[in-house]
Amino acid sequence: MRTWPMHEADQIVSLFTRAQGRIKGVAKSAAKSRRRFGGALEPMTWVTASYVEKPRQELVRLDACEVIVSPLSDPVDYPRAAALEFYAEVLEETLPDHDPHDAVFRLLLAVLGQTRTSRIWMPVTYFSLWMTRLLGWMPSVTHCTVCGEAFADEAAWFHAQTDGLVCAREKRAGSRILSAESLALARRIFASPIPAFEQEEWPPSRAADLRRFATQSLERHLERRLHAAAALVKLAQ
Ligand SMILES: [Zn+2]
Repeated sequence: MRTWPMHEADQIVSLFTRAQGRIKGVAKSAAKSRRRFGGALEPMTWVTASYVEKPRQELVRLDACEVIVSPLSDPVDYPRAAALEFYAEVLEETLPDHDPHDAVFRLLLAVLGQTRTSRIWMPVTYFSLWMTRLLGWMPSVTHCTVCGEAFADEAAWFHAQTDGLVCAREKRAGSRILSAESLALARRIFASPIPAFEQEEWPPSRAADLRRFATQSLERHLERRLHAAAALVKLAQ
């Protein structure tokens, strides 16, 4: 997910593993020798990692990484780089250490496979919605959180400081609208695998309210701003 320089040419690497969830390790001489790690430490690279855990040490020793799929095997423009950075930041901030999460792992692989140049908005929207749900922070998209009535074909409202999605009657001052169209799209996203949306036109304006809603939920629970989310909002304008 991310690397940090350590002393000399060593790097600290944060990995999201299928078996153990998020772990951190040291890649010796990674900055110097590209022989052992090559491009495998680029964020959002899917690898087979060989590492050794040591007793009473938080950091594993990363011995080798073999690339399965690299994001760099497809062209990278600024929007695609911003989308990859968004996935990395959300995962890095939300995943606890040593806590496997297979559903998130599968979501990430599915989303990465769809994140191509000039078509990032569908996978970014899909990822932000599903991540929020898998973390347990997504309210009902069919019924008002306060009164319990079905939204039917109407819009809903959300507020930066409170959880939930409410009907027109319960909305507070300063709420933002989630259009009926976006709400219907959210229901489809929760009912369909990502390839179902592959053929759809997805300009940056489509479901921007839905992405804001999901991002605000993530940020409220994390109690911090997501920089990559702000970069994406700018990009969509
Ligand atoms: Zn209501």
